[in-house]
Amino acid sequence: MTDWTSSWRRAEVVENRPVARGTQLTALRLPDNLPFPFAPGHVVALRLMTPAGLHRHPYTVCGADEANRVLTFIYRVIPEGRLTPAFAALPPGGAAEISGLHHSPIHEEVDAEAQVIVGCGTSSGLGPLWGYAARSLMEGEQRPIHLVVGVREEADLPLGPELEALAAGPGTFLCTPIVSRPSSSWAGLRGRITDHAPAFLPRLQNTHVHLVGNMAMVKTMEAALQAAGLPPHRVTKEGFFNWNAEADPAVVADLARRLSGLPASAPP
Ligand SMILES: Cc1cc2nc3c(=O)[nH]c(=O)nc-3n(C[C@H](O)[C@H](O)[C@H](O)COP(=O)(O)OP(=O)(O)OC[C@H]3O[C@@H](n4cnc5c(N)ncnc54)[C@H](O)[C@@H]3O)c2cc1C
Repeated sequence: MTDWTSSWRRAEVVENRPVARGTQLTALRLPDNLPFPFAPGHVVALRLMTPAGLHRHPYTVCGADEANRVLTFIYRVIPEGRLTPAFAALPPGGAAEISGLHHSPIHEEVDAEAQVIVGCGTSSGLGPLWGYAARSLMEGEQRPIHLVVGVREEADLPLGPELEALAAGPGTFLCTPIVSRPSSSWAGLRGRITDHAPAFLPRLQNTHVHLVGNMAMVKTMEAALQAAGLPPHRVTKEGFFNWNAEADPAVVADLARRLSGLPASAPP
């Protein structure tokens, strides 16, 4: 039998809309009869004919509707990018291809012994976390799920109505936005995820943390969480970009101290 995970499967657009400035949600239906074992956090390769030729990139599944065979993706539209402008411009019925089944879904990575689940995403990195939370709460998850999203400006905050719907539904769900360059009228948290992490991780040793998006955030948070004593299996991740980023040892040490409940180290 052909290995379906390595074949390119035709997919057609059933929905394509912005969910924030520069962030797009595209839903694709797979009309074939091949297996559909997808869940939020799985990664597939997406291939698309663009004005500059055939391009492919990995994308993380945010939603997987098995009954309708629809996969939902959320991605940052890179204005000069090779693939994302063409992906975001596909009309209903437009064609793409997907291949593979990579990574583990988030619900399999979250430690069953953890009592609290915290997801941290930069920009479109919120997408798979939202999909995971929606699926888990619908299936009766009783543990609190707290998502934290970091963006540059308020207009970049994705999925407002979808997050409100989750907060109004069953279970304990909270999403905290953090804006690094807010307008003067922004009343929420200012700065980066790493600035505020101790506030949303008060019960660190009981928590599972899943990190998604910019590798600068992922590497800094991962290193600080482990330095603060969180075991490796309680920190899981999915990097989207910025692979050359290095965690600054001084920032990591300071964040680890604050995560441990100690005062921040004095500035040099
Ligand atoms: C395992 C994996 C899963 C991924 N899943 C997702 C996903 O679910 N959603 C998503 O938005 N992206 C995701 N990405 C990134 C995605 O594969 C592409 O790199 C991205 O969409 C750029 O496509 P492009 O061809 O338009 O840009 P390119 O022409 O490839 O230009 C890329 C430029 O944009 C930068 N860039 C790439 N992604 C981002 C981003 N999210 N925000 C800001 N700058 C970025 C790169 O650093 C580079 O400078 C994932 C990457 C990996 C490795």
